[in-house]
Amino acid sequence: MIQAKTVIEIRNISKRFGNVIAVDSNSLTIKEGEFFALLGPSGCGKTTLLRMLAGLEVPTDGKILIDGEDMQGVAPNHRPINMVFQSYAVFPHMTVFDNVGYGLKVTGIAASTIREEVMAALEQVRLGGYQDRMPDQLSGGQKQRVALARALVKKPKVLLLDEPLSALDAKLREAMQLELVKLQNTVGITFIIVTHDQDEALSMADRIAVINSGKIEQIAEPRTIYEFPANRFVADFIGKMNVFDAKVAKEGDRLAIQSSEIGRFLVSDRKDIEPNRINAVAIRPEKIRLTGTRPDDSLYCTEAKIVNIAYHGKETAIFVEIGENTEISCTVQNSSRKQDMPKIGDFRWLSWEVDDMLLLE
Ligand code: ATP
Repeated sequence: MIQAKTVIEIRNISKRFGNVIAVDSNSLTIKEGEFFALLGPSGCGKTTLLRMLAGLEVPTDGKILIDGEDMQGVAPNHRPINMVFQSYAVFPHMTVFDNVGYGLKVTGIAASTIREEVMAALEQVRLGGYQDRMPDQLSGGQKQRVALARALVKKPKVLLLDEPLSALDAKLREAMQLELVKLQNTVGITFIIVTHDQDEALSMADRIAVINSGKIEQIAEPRTIYEFPANRFVADFIGKMNVFDAKVAKEGDRLAIQSSEIGRFLVSDRKDIEPNRINAVAIRPEKIRLTGTRPDDSLYCTEAKIVNIAYHGKETAIFVEIGENTEISCTVQNSSRKQDMPKIGDFRWLSWEVDDMLLLE
């Protein structure tokens, strides 16, 4: 992992709009060269947090330090930061060259230097040769790259990206995700992206902050967020998850789970868990095994009825029912065309590895 110095330090930052607490006392540090994602549902406060970094909103409480310098009272254009917005935000009446060079021109730099810098920025975003085009002669992805070049040309320490890919269609978005990561590696500056798209955050970021109702719920690397969500909100928000209410008690050196929905069973001997803080258990659909015969190597297994099947190409989602009306979703990889798929109404044995069960606060 990156052993770089801290470029952004956020200390107990809050923002209130009247009665609405948009950002609720969050602290966070971001390292130089990191690709950091602020992820959360609509209205959770991620854009407000980004806008406070940019100086477009004034915090109600708390401090923001960039490169060790307190940003209180520092205007947006005096911060070592630049921002790329959701809409392409390019000037329609200017060529690509003038769009990218605009920010440099107003600072009074020599025309020859501007030319050099603009051409270099266009190369960086793979738009070399497009300098004389007008925005209406560009595709959506190309316009977004112009916006990126315009932000990069000023060589900020930190680039803020507010849902930068949300206006693009799914295929182009995926391609641009890879490209943004490559670009960030090349330019080496810190990127902070705001997104509500978990796949985007998981695939692009070095670390993610998951936000809910103004509060950061977990900050971690993508794999940790997915495999070890800190609590029920993160578990539910990231990927698909079966979550059940449950109580946990010590039984010898193991933990016993009692759930009204999936019954009673033993789980691992984790010592780091405080049983009475757990109120739910969870299992990812892809960790569940469906077998024709009862598995004898699993601590948890039960018989389940197939109630729904949804084919998704590379995988199939299979919904099973156990007991009265508890539905569980399972994912089966379609690795072979000869694979034997169950049908609605069939019964299968459902089981999972003890360690794949998550205990949630
Ligand atoms: P989205 O993904 O929908 O843009 P978000 O997570 O970025 O959502 P914010 O835009 O930061 O959320 O908004 C957080 C909360 O603050 C919301 O409840 C929003 O209505 C409120 N809010 C944001 N800006 C203002 C404002 N200028 N005046 C009043 N309330 C605001």
